[in-house]
Amino acid sequence: MDKPIRSLLDLKGKVPFLGLTGGIGSGKSSVATFLAKRGAWVIDTDHIAHQICASGGVAIDPIKREFGSEFILPDGSLNRAKMREHAFKDTESKRKLEAITHPLIRQETILQAENGLKNHAPYLVFVVPLLLESGTWTENLDHIAVVDCEEEVQIERVMERSQLDRQGVLAIMAHQASRAERLAIADTVIYNQGDLVSLEIEVDRLHQKMLDL
Ligand code: ADP
Repeated sequence: MDKPIRSLLDLKGKVPFLGLTGGIGSGKSSVATFLAKRGAWVIDTDHIAHQICASGGVAIDPIKREFGSEFILPDGSLNRAKMREHAFKDTESKRKLEAITHPLIRQETILQAENGLKNHAPYLVFVVPLLLESGTWTENLDHIAVVDCEEEVQIERVMERSQLDRQGVLAIMAHQASRAERLAIADTVIYNQGDLVSLEIEVDRLHQKMLDL
């Protein structure tokens, strides 16, 4: 019988693994969409994190057991606002929440990576907003692309796409690595300060680089 896959490292070496990161609003999802259009297999860990906490998601029952049903909304999904406030205030609760969610995110990420390999993807893209902050992620990757722009542009973009005000965006950014820290681990920097046409040209270059790896 095949050994169960417990780590992305077990899958490494078959096709290149690209890590895509950047601060909130930098343009990660936009880059990922352009790469997918060119045939890359995209695995969005943020999307997975949301999925497992949506109604019927695999994290809901363990969260209910650990924190109580008052953290679950009537539709069966996680009450994100309540949990965010709770876990922001109390590091032990944050640790307990991550002890539930991180292994489930890892499991789903591995499953989607296996699917990418089965589908003969030329390379896999892992969108990981907190790539630096989450410690061991980098060892899974062959190439790291950082999407970068001025902080003021990040703030404007996020305010435009969400309900957050300036203070809300700044609070999230304060929990993320700094621009300089992210740029220090980049193999490729995608500078996303211009329009979407310029971004797509940058993405083409990255795509070609990944095919050549
Ligand atoms: P992230 O995934 O890093 O949070 P997104 O790709 O979702 O960022 O981009 C944030 C917002 O800014 C989205 O609404 C997106 O459509 C918009 N956006 C991203 N890049 C550009 C750009 N170069 N020009 C105009 N709008 C952009």
